[in-house]
Amino acid sequence: MKREFAVIGLGRFGGSVCRELSSEGMDVLAIDTIESKINEYRHIASHAVIADATDEKVLKELGIRNIDHVIVAIGEDIQASILTTLMLKELGIKKITVKAQNDYHEKVLNKIGADQVIHPERDMGRKIAHSIISNNILDHLELSDDHSIVEIKAGTKLVGKSLTELDIRARFGCNVVAIKSGEANEINVSPLATEVIEDEDVLVIIGADKDISRFEKQLVIDD
Ligand code: ATP
Repeated sequence: MKREFAVIGLGRFGGSVCRELSSEGMDVLAIDTIESKINEYRHIASHAVIADATDEKVLKELGIRNIDHVIVAIGEDIQASILTTLMLKELGIKKITVKAQNDYHEKVLNKIGADQVIHPERDMGRKIAHSIISNNILDHLELSDDHSIVEIKAGTKLVGKSLTELDIRARFGCNVVAIKSGEANEINVSPLATEVIEDEDVLVIIGADKDISRFEKQLVIDD
């Protein structure tokens, strides 16, 4: 069954979410207070409506209650973002994702029950910083404030060694949960301790940021 989404706020972030969901064939209700934005998204989203999301009556009239997942991408106007989230919560929306503008905003959103709070600028900044530190760090996914999953291309210090030899869990406290190899990125989940790391392999590692960082410094970044 086609899933239904609503995107409130069609700035760069909300607009991009709306485009992507629509191109994946999802049913998207796009909402913004600005007419020119709605005109831009009229042919992209399934429905595009000029509306102020802080008006509960309007939200009800739009039938927002029947939507599976609402993305609140109102940026600058933190008050409007919080108020909208609160009303969506009261209306019983199953899943609410909200873009936070700063750490205080994020805290409030978590308190009022947003299911997912994202901070795209901060998260992307962190990812870029990690990939700048080392070309071997291909991806960085934050699990919490202090835990992550990273994808690391095996460099000279890792290639040819087995997981037993490297003893990553005991030395660094983090775990290799998968190894991707070959051009097809074949994935070996929960590799055996005897697994030998080959050139061009990608290690998927989970752990505390401080442990992953020690691992990166010692075994990933070339001297
Ligand atoms: P981005 O970085 O994603 O471009 P931003 O963080 O700069 O966005 P804004 O441009 O302030 O965020 O807001 C995003 C969109 O949300 C704007 O198009 C704005 O018109 C819309 N918006 C703001 N308040 C409301 C509201 N109460 N109801 C609906 N849309 C709103």
